[in-house]
This record gives sequence, C-alpha cells and structure tokens, in this order.
Amino acid sequence: MSINFKDYVASVPDFPEVGVTFRDISPLMSDGEAYAAATDEIVAYAKDRGVEMIVGPEARGFIVGCPVAYKLGVGFAPARKKGKLPRPTVSASYGLEYGQSTLYMHKDAVKPGQRVLVTDDLLATGGTIAATIKMVEELGGIVVGTAFLIELNDLNGREKIKDYDIFKLMDY
Ligand code: IMP
Repeated sequence: MSINFKDYVASVPDFPEVGVTFRDISPLMSDGEAYAAATDEIVAYAKDRGVEMIVGPEARGFIVGCPVAYKLGVGFAPARKKGKLPRPTVSASYGLEYGQSTLYMHKDAVKPGQRVLVTDDLLATGGTIAATIKMVEELGGIVVGTAFLIELNDLNGREKIKDYDIFKLMDY
C-alpha cells in the first residue's frame, strides 16, 4: 500500500505569525509506518547517489537524517546552533526575515572527499541548507544531494542551491 505523505502533515494557519501557514511534520514522525516509508524513500535516493555520510541542521534535520544514516550504515554529523558543539568548529551565517543566524559544525565532522547527503525537514528560502552545504564543502566534503520531506515552492529556496540535486517527498 502506498502512502500519501500529505495525509501526515498538519497545516497550521497563522503560525508562527499571521499570514504564514506552518507545515508541521509531527504527525508523520509519530506514525511508525509513515516515518519508515519516508525514511525508505530517502534511503533509496541516497543509495543511488553513493552517499557515505549524512549531515543535517538542528533540529528537524536530525529527525530526517539519522534514521537514513542508520539504515545505510553510514555516519551522521549535526550542524548546530551557537554554543552547542564542544570542540573546534567551522561556521556559516545566513539571513532570516529579521537579522541572521549562524550554524556550526565540528571541524572533523566530515572527511575530505566524503560523499555527503544534506537532509532537513523542509526547504523554505534555502538559507539553512545553503549554510550547511557551505560548511560541508569547507571541510572538503562533496555534497552529492539534498533531501527534504517538504519543499515550499513559493519561497524558491531551490534557487539558492541550484548547483545541487534536490530530492523531496512533497511540495506545497
Ligand atoms: P529556510 O532556511 O528558509 O529554507 O527554512 C528552512 C528551515 O526552517 C528548516 O530547518 C525548517 O525546519 C524551518 N521551517 C521553515 N518553515 C517551516 C514550516 O512551515 N514547517 C516546518 N519547518 C519550517
């Protein structure tokens, strides 16, 4: 039986602010069958691309990336917010609607030449994923693909990562 993943996304109007519709993936994660099916689709994509390492940004990038890493038998490295990683880091900043944010990775998180898949729950403006890609490349990793549960088409995040392959399960 094939799963309609959109049945497992809660669309929440006016969150976090009026006029924005938040796509909440919690129902997908809380259903074992749907979560496994979503994971399996990304695993198949990653196998096709010869992925050797997964990197995902805090926090929902972990939820998407970690089960894929486990299933492939490869490692996972987190991109984290300020003050979370205890050893030497690289960093990359990106713009938010108001101000900016910075992500960090341990300097030894990715080995030079390693084929990396970057995962997150959702592609919006692309700032988060572009910053994560920048760090992976600074560490010498080769970004062979990106994978999301959801792409928000109107925000055109794919323009920011146009040099990279994009896999997504759903779009709005
Ligand atoms: P971007 O950097 O603008 O592409 O935003 C993507 C990041 O913001 C991801 O890490 C998402 O977890 C989060 N995000 C933005 N909009 C939503 C949403 O509607 N639902 C869930 N997460 C979102």
